[in-house]
Amino acid sequence: MKSVLFLAGFMLSACAGVTDMQTADAPKEGQALIFTRALSSGALKISSEPRIEISSELSAPDLAPNTLDDSQKLERQAEYAEVMLQVEERQKVFDGKPQHFKLDGQFVQGGLVFGQTAPGAKVRLDGDEVMVGEDGRFVVGFGRDSALSALISVTLPNGTVESKAIEIEDRDFPVQHIDGLDQSKVSGFTEEQLAKIAIDSGKKKSARATTQSTADWATGFEWPILGRISGVFGSQRILNGEPKRPHSGVDVAAPQGSIIHAPAPGIVRLAETGMYFEGGLVLIDHGHWLESAFLHMSRIDVKSGQRVEKGDVIGAVGATGRATGPHLHWSMKWTGRLVDPQLLVGAMPEEEGAVGH
Ligand SMILES: [Zn+2]
Repeated sequence: MKSVLFLAGFMLSACAGVTDMQTADAPKEGQALIFTRALSSGALKISSEPRIEISSELSAPDLAPNTLDDSQKLERQAEYAEVMLQVEERQKVFDGKPQHFKLDGQFVQGGLVFGQTAPGAKVRLDGDEVMVGEDGRFVVGFGRDSALSALISVTLPNGTVESKAIEIEDRDFPVQHIDGLDQSKVSGFTEEQLAKIAIDSGKKKSARATTQSTADWATGFEWPILGRISGVFGSQRILNGEPKRPHSGVDVAAPQGSIIHAPAPGIVRLAETGMYFEGGLVLIDHGHWLESAFLHMSRIDVKSGQRVEKGDVIGAVGATGRATGPHLHWSMKWTGRLVDPQLLVGAMPEEEGAVGH
């Protein structure tokens, strides 16, 4: 009987009709539970039609309640209650508020979601383990083209597991045309350029090989510079007519030499001039594999390994690397996934009145 009841639990988790559960509760004498797929709706339903359909694995007495003695009936009821509990637990994944963790942030493509659970808990996002701070804080992120749902599971130190399915909002991203670029930086590279790109790539890779367990991101983020937003995250760039990878961050137009501030605390992992694409590049590790990158800088005022606090000067705006004019390109990655920095800082403040930044 257990196999049938388990199947009932599994199927109920797909349709979760309360009335269906009740019909399954008390099959009448001579009736068998028959699982049918309602073709009209596609939903799975359980009916108790007076037809007999016996699985080859089940013997007839299992399906005839009047042949069970009292202890067998009790055992059967207990099994049924257990299955129903499992169904209830599964349903909470979709409906209920989690009891053992909190989530806050942007449940959208390119968004970051900040969580808090018990110290010592383990957190998984779609099965992948997520770093959790000693105080139980964690962060998860969703890329530009992320699936529209995700499952967060938390395992408490006592073994209790709680899961929550979350919806990720779909976003439309604009198309941006940029013409008049040096064609050599748009398509095709010389061997010399490819060698330089490979060296740069190695430097970025080793800078990104580590992260700190301190949740520096928990202080929140501020714009690293004020100015007109000249490019947004996720836009599809068409350079000299050729479609390129979506824009990885937000661009802020600012005069050459304008000061750039750390948007949040962190550890500088790379401070390098002359990168082929990025020009002057600074990478800041905000903890838990969340990183900021600042590109095209004309001057760099920090060193690799140095700790910075929110608001510290890290360098100045330039047009180095692949840039058409002076601006700051700020991009962010969580575990290698690009996320949208603008979602963390909101609208650009008016420049006047916000001076002193
Ligand atoms: Zn950019």
